[in-house]
Amino acid sequence: MSTVPPHAIERLYQQRLKQSTRPYQARGYQIIRCPHCHLAQKFCQCHLKQSVVSNCAFCLIMYDFEVLKPSNSAGLIADIIPDTYGFIWSRMQTSTELLTLLANPEYQPIVIFPTQNALESQPLATAHDLQPTGKKPLFILLDGTWREAHKMYRKSPWLHHFPLLSFNLDKAPSDYSLRKGSLGFQLATAEVAALALAAAGEQANADVLLSWFEVFCEASLMATSKDSDFVRRPLVQLQKAYMDALEQAAGVTLSEPVADL
Ligand SMILES: [Zn+2]
Repeated sequence: MSTVPPHAIERLYQQRLKQSTRPYQARGYQIIRCPHCHLAQKFCQCHLKQSVVSNCAFCLIMYDFEVLKPSNSAGLIADIIPDTYGFIWSRMQTSTELLTLLANPEYQPIVIFPTQNALESQPLATAHDLQPTGKKPLFILLDGTWREAHKMYRKSPWLHHFPLLSFNLDKAPSDYSLRKGSLGFQLATAEVAALALAAAGEQANADVLLSWFEVFCEASLMATSKDSDFVRRPLVQLQKAYMDALEQAAGVTLSEPVADL
């Protein structure tokens, strides 16, 4: 059992759970799950959880019960990147805490959303936004289905003036990307976060997050399915890759943010 205090996404999960009048019945809801990683207890991976040193921060804005889905990968970002925040989106009332965070001068907020679906007036993120002087990039991720993310973007005008970062990929970064017929593939939130880390110059941390995501996916699949369309690799091999990535990241010295002169 983990003795580390619950991170932002775990706290958000508990908060959302209290508001639920009935249990969220996702596929495999009968499974007895670890209260922390939400994997089947038998496949709990909490003993491997380890955060890294990072100059990046993440702000996850989640669509209603997204946080309750056991397959949601937002918690994996908070496992790895200590400076991670989570909020449940509301069309009617934006949380003051969220707006205060976005106005904090220690951060450079960057919205991650596809350019082709964003407002033309929204500025594109520059290299300076990604590695800002004296500030931390704060990557804002809209977590939900594609339709929900689109709605959150459109109906949150307070997002529209921040620099925009998009990823155009012809190949998924992980073998475990969710596959969605006509759309090709749709990335999981943790995969998008890994791309953001890489864009900010933290490739070693991106590798840790991606390999942690793969451990999570495989352990999750082991509990819910016997056969699948996913490319499967032995869990022990994925755990080893994750431990190696952690070791690699621990050997990287990040340059300290330099104060503005
Ligand atoms: Zn666990």
